[in-house]
Amino acid sequence: MGPFLTPVLINTGWCKKCGICVEFCPCQVLAMETGNVPYVIAPDKCTRCRLCELLCPDFAVTLTSKSA
Ligand code: SF4
Ligand code: SF4
Repeated sequence: MGPFLTPVLINTGWCKKCGICVEFCPCQVLAMETGNVPYVIAPDKCTRCRLCELLCPDFAVTLTSKSA
């Protein structure tokens, strides 16, 4: 495993591209382009608040386990 671990995983099969996780992340960790699933643009800003995971209507967001 490399040194980078994304704080958030998006299940691309479940994501309906609604953008809620991008809009409500208080730290601008996520970004998305029209018609695509969100992606992690600023992993270092994530406070692991879990808001994205809680708000996703399709349970497509999962916080990863914290790296050592
Ligand atoms: S909230 Fe869930 S369904 Fe909506 S864009 Fe984010 S991951 Fe996809
Ligand atoms: S856990 Fe919180 S800070 Fe991290 S991506 Fe989700 S909403 Fe943003």
